[in-house]
Amino acid sequence: MLEKLNIGVDVGGTNIKFGVVSASGTLLFKSSVCTHPAGGGKEILTTITDNVKQIIKNAGLSLSDVNSVGIGFPGTVDSKKGMVVYAPNIYWKNVAVTRSVKQNIRKDIFIAQDSRAAAWGEFLVGSGVGYSDIVCITLGTGIGCGMIINGNIYNGGLNTAGEFGHQLIRKNDNPCTCGRKGCLETLVGAPAIIKSALKSKTLAKKIGLKDGSASVLDIYGLAAEGDKEAIAVTGKVVEYLAAGLVNMINIVSPQVICISGGISNAKDKLLLTPLRRTIQQNVYKPAARKVKIVKSVLGSDAPLIGAALLYKNKC
Ligand SMILES: [Zn+2]
Repeated sequence: MLEKLNIGVDVGGTNIKFGVVSASGTLLFKSSVCTHPAGGGKEILTTITDNVKQIIKNAGLSLSDVNSVGIGFPGTVDSKKGMVVYAPNIYWKNVAVTRSVKQNIRKDIFIAQDSRAAAWGEFLVGSGVGYSDIVCITLGTGIGCGMIINGNIYNGGLNTAGEFGHQLIRKNDNPCTCGRKGCLETLVGAPAIIKSALKSKTLAKKIGLKDGSASVLDIYGLAAEGDKEAIAVTGKVVEYLAAGLVNMINIVSPQVICISGGISNAKDKLLLTPLRRTIQQNVYKPAARKVKIVKSVLGSDAPLIGAALLYKNKC
């Protein structure tokens, strides 16, 4: 008998991605639709179930070929209760997902926070293969973090583990989405990097930030060409991110830190190389030469692949 396949769903504030994934983590088919958060929980749940059925059909499969459906959400998820507790990007609070989806698709349904699903994917079939404890950081507008501890997704007793972006790095007046000031996210989140670059008029002019169309990658592009002001901005990102990662490594003791998201594609000399060096100089000594700082293997597909493989998580 052929191996059964699993469906992964990655719910984001802009798009919802769907994938057919083999048990060994190969993404076989992929599709995407726009998210319409204004329609409320019911509309998004209908979009999910309709498109799961559609991708099964488009892949030439039937429901009997499918083992499970796994869904990642951008927010706090209670995986055991099958509920999304809080997901501000899609305006959800206490939505019973598993029960609702199961009414339409009679398969095992698993849900998790998207960053934890991404870490699970990296752990099983990406940069974390062969290790027991890994941390995956996604650098974007916000900062995602998923932790695998002792071979399992770590949720924490309060189900809020891995709020890596909300650690206080430096007291300042930068307000964070969490309500505090000085969080790591206010220093290395994409808007913060752009804001920092904007402080220089010459740099702002070079990257056309005035019309709001420039992205963080433009700053990294200039830095790669040797622009001193851009290099100063990317250097600060390394300094703050390293401080956050040193704290993380000292507390959690992961074998691997996996970095994904937009700026993870920056040239090694602007991110990974100085990051490794700064961490090695500052982290608790017995961990310094052992911890590996690597780029994500699965990239932006990590949450989708990890969601599809959630059925393998024992906790
Ligand atoms: Zn915060």
